[in-house]
Amino acid sequence: MNASFSRFAQSKENVLKLFNNINDGLMITNINREIIAVNQAFTKMTGYTIEEAEGNNLRFLQSELTKRAAFIDMWKTIEQFGTWTGEVTYRRKDETTFSAYVTMTKIDHTNPEECYYIGVMRDITTRKLDEKKLQNLSYYDSLTQLPNRDVFLQELTKALAESEAKDELLALLFVDMDRFKKVNDSYGHQAGDELLIKMANRIQNIVEDKGLLSRFGGDEFTVYLPQLKDKAMVDNVVTQILEAFRIPFMVEGNAIYMTLSIGVCYFPEHGEDADTLLKNADSAMYRTKDAGRNHYQVYEQNMNEKTAEQLTFEGEFLQALHTDQLEVYYQLQVDVDAGIPFGVEALVRWNHPTLGVISPGLFLPVAEETGKMAELDEWVLNQACLQTKQWQEEGFQGLIVSVNVSAAFFKRKDFVSRVEAALALSQLEPKYICLEVTENTAILQIEDIQNKLWQLKNKGMCVSLDDFGTGYSSLSQLRYFPIDTLKIDQSFVRDSKAKENEAIVKLIIAMAKSLGVTVLCEGVETEEQLGLIRNEGCNHAQGFLFSKPLPSAQCQDLLQKIKKSS
Ligand code: C2E
Ligand code: MG
Ligand code: MG
Repeated sequence: MNASFSRFAQSKENVLKLFNNINDGLMITNINREIIAVNQAFTKMTGYTIEEAEGNNLRFLQSELTKRAAFIDMWKTIEQFGTWTGEVTYRRKDETTFSAYVTMTKIDHTNPEECYYIGVMRDITTRKLDEKKLQNLSYYDSLTQLPNRDVFLQELTKALAESEAKDELLALLFVDMDRFKKVNDSYGHQAGDELLIKMANRIQNIVEDKGLLSRFGGDEFTVYLPQLKDKAMVDNVVTQILEAFRIPFMVEGNAIYMTLSIGVCYFPEHGEDADTLLKNADSAMYRTKDAGRNHYQVYEQNMNEKTAEQLTFEGEFLQALHTDQLEVYYQLQVDVDAGIPFGVEALVRWNHPTLGVISPGLFLPVAEETGKMAELDEWVLNQACLQTKQWQEEGFQGLIVSVNVSAAFFKRKDFVSRVEAALALSQLEPKYICLEVTENTAILQIEDIQNKLWQLKNKGMCVSLDDFGTGYSSLSQLRYFPIDTLKIDQSFVRDSKAKENEAIVKLIIAMAKSLGVTVLCEGVETEEQLGLIRNEGCNHAQGFLFSKPLPSAQCQDLLQKIKKSS
C-alpha cells in the first residue's frame, strides 16, 4: 500500500468520509456476522437507518428469492477462501426486494474480537430489468407483441416463488379461441392474423398490469394474476374478458363474432409448479369447451381424468377409422300406403373393442374435432353405395339409399366428384342415392351448397333435408334448394300429441305439398303416431315401428321377409 494512502487511512475522519460517500452499500460485521457499521448508501438501498441496522445478524436482509442453500454456500466459500462475490436478492425494510451484486470479505485475526466481515453491495435491479428487456426483445411474439411461451414460463416460475414466499394466491388462466380454425379456413390466414392481434389487444386492455398475458401458441393465450387478495378479482377479470368479446371484430370489412373458452386454476390449491398449473388450467379449458364454450370453469380434481379419457377416446377413434371397427347400419324407409320399404338410411356405428357398439351421437363430435368428418362420410357413402348395388343385384330392385352428409364433407371443393367416384366404383345409378343434408348445413353456406346440390340433382340424384323443423331456415330460403324430400324431425313426431307439435307437423306437410316435395316423418315408434301422420297425408316414414337401424346382413333378412310376405 502506498505510504500516503496509509496516512490517509489512519485518519478516522477520512475513512468515515470515504465510507459514507461511496455509492456502494457497505456493511461491517463482527465474527458473529452482527452488523457493527453500515454506510449511507446502505441506508438508501435498504431503507434501514444506521441505528436499525446495527446489531442485526446479516440474515435480516435475506429474502426467500435467494434460496437458503445459496447463502450457506456463500458463507462456506468466505470461510474457505476469504471472499465471495455474486448476486443475491435482499429484502428492504418495506418488504420489497432488490437484486444486489455483493462482495463479502473476511478480515481474519487470531483474536476473534478483531475478526470482521466487510460487505460491499450494489443494487443491480435496474441493470437486471434492462437485461430482461433485452432478453424480451427476442422473446416477444412477433405477431401480437405479447411475451411468448418461454417468457411466460420463466416469469410464472418467478411469480410462483414470490407467491410462495409471501403466502399469496395466484391465478392461472388458459384462454382458447372457439372455432378459430374455422375463421382461418373461411377468411384466410391474413384475416386470421389480424383477428389474433385484435383479440390479443382486447384481452391485454383488461389484464393490463394486473398480471402477465402471453400468446402461448396458435390461438391459445395464458394469463397469470399474482398477489391476489381473493378469487373475486379473477372472476371479475374473466367476466370482463368474456364481455369484451361480445362486440364483433371487424376484419377486412367482415364483422366476426368470436367467443372464448377459459380454464382457471389457482396456486397453491391446484398445483405448486408451473407445469402442473398449466396442465390443470388446460383441462379446465377443455371442460369449458365440452360444456358449450364461451364461458369459463375453475379446475376440479377429476377433470384431468376426464381429459385423459377424452384423449384416449380420440386416439381410439382415429385408429378405428383405419381399422375395420366402423360399420354401416341400415334402417328401413317405408312407403306407408303401399306397406313396403322403398329405401334405407345408412347410419354409421363404431364397434369399439371394449365398449361395444357406440352411437354416432357420441363419436361424431370427436370426428368433427379431429377433422375426420369428411373422411368418415366418404367412407360411409362408398360402403352404402356398394351395399345397395349388391342388394339390387340380389333382387331388391329400386332400393334407394340415403346417406348423411356433414357440412365438412359438403364444403370440400371436390365434393361433387367424390360422390360421382362413389357411384362409379359401385356402379350404382345416381337416382338410387339420396343425400341427406341437415337444415343447418344447408343454410350455412347457401350459395356454395345450392350450387353443389344442383350439380348432383342434374345428374339424377335425390336430396333430402334432414331434421327439418329444428333449424333456422325460413320457407323462402328453402325455395332455392333443389329438395326432393323434407324429413320432419323425430322430436315433432315423438311428441305429436302436444297440440303445437301436431299443428307444426300439419303445417309442414301442407307446405311441402305446395312446394311439390315429399315428406318423410322420422322417429315413428307407434301405430298411433303412424295414424296421425297418415291422416295429414304423409306417406313416407322411418322409425322403430318398422325397424331399428340394423347391420347389413340383418337388414337383408328383414327385406327378404317383407318381400316374401307381400
Ligand atoms: P338422422 O340422420 O336424423 O338419423 C336418424 C336417427 O334417429 C338415427 O340415430 C336413428 O337410429 C334414430 N331413429 C330412427 N328411428 C327412430 C325411432 O323410432 N325412435 C328413436 N328414438 N330414434 C330413431 P343414429 O343412428 O344414432 O344417428 C344419429 C345422427 O347421427 C343421425 O341423425 C345423423 O345426423 C348422424 N349420422 C349417422 N350416421 C352418419 C354418417 O354416416 N354421417 C354423418 N354425417 N352423420 C351421421
Ligand atoms: Mg339422416
Ligand atoms: Mg334426422
